[in-house]
Amino acid sequence: MNIAIDGPAGAGKSTVAQQVAAKLGYLYIDTGSMYRALAWAVHHYELPVENEEAVARLLQENTIRLEREQGEQRVYWNDIDVTRLIRTPEVSEYASIVASYASVREQMLGLQRAMATRGNVVMDGRDIGTHVLPDAEVKIFLTASIQERARRRWNELRAKGNDPQLSDMEKEIAERDHRDMNREVAPLRQAEDAVLVDTTGSSIEQVVDRILQICDRTGESKQ
Ligand code: C5P
Repeated sequence: MNIAIDGPAGAGKSTVAQQVAAKLGYLYIDTGSMYRALAWAVHHYELPVENEEAVARLLQENTIRLEREQGEQRVYWNDIDVTRLIRTPEVSEYASIVASYASVREQMLGLQRAMATRGNVVMDGRDIGTHVLPDAEVKIFLTASIQERARRRWNELRAKGNDPQLSDMEKEIAERDHRDMNREVAPLRQAEDAVLVDTTGSSIEQVVDRILQICDRTGESKQ
C-alpha cells in the first residue's frame, strides 16, 4: 500500500507522515526536502533563481539523495549533508520558486516515482495524490488554519534559538500558499479521492491515529 499526504506549509505533514510510516514499518519520503535541497544549492552557488533553465540544469547535473540514518531522514546534495541547512526561511522561499518550474517538477516526478516503486511508502508533499502517486491506496489532505500553521513554524524556529516575529511567519506562509496553489504546473490542491483532515486544535497523536484508522479501513476493504 502507498500513502500520499499532501497539504499546505505547516500543516504538520512531515511529523505526522514520519510517525505513520514508523507505526506501519513503511518508508517515509519527504518530497519537500528534495525541492529544498535544490533551492539550497541555487542559493549556495548564487545562481539566479529566476532562471528556470539554469535551475533545471543544476538539478540534472547533480544528485539528491534521501537516506535513513539512525531512524532519521537525512538529505544529501551530492555528498554534502544539507539536512539542517535546508530549514531556513530563505531556502523555504527559494523552494517554492524552483518548485514552480515545469522542467524541475518533471525531473522530481521521475525521481520520486522511482523511490516509490517498491511500495509501502508514506510520501508527503503538495502533488503526491494528484500527480506523483495518483494510484496511492490512501490519500490524505492535511490542513490547519493559517494562524495555527504560523504558530507552529514560529515555535519550531524559537526552539532552534531564533527570535522570529509571528506576523512575519503568517505573511511567509500566506505567500507560500499563494504560490503553491496558483502555479501552472501541479498546483497544490486536494485530490478528488483524498480524505480531508483538518489538524487545527488536534494533537499529533490524534492526527496520526485518525490516519491509521483510514489506512486500516482501506486495508480491510481491499481484502
Ligand atoms: O513541504 P516543504 O515546506 O518542505 O516544501 C517546500 C516547498 O517545496 C513547498 O513550499 C512547495 O513549493 C514545494 N513542494 C512542491 N511539491 C512537493 C513538495 C514540496 O511543490 N511535492
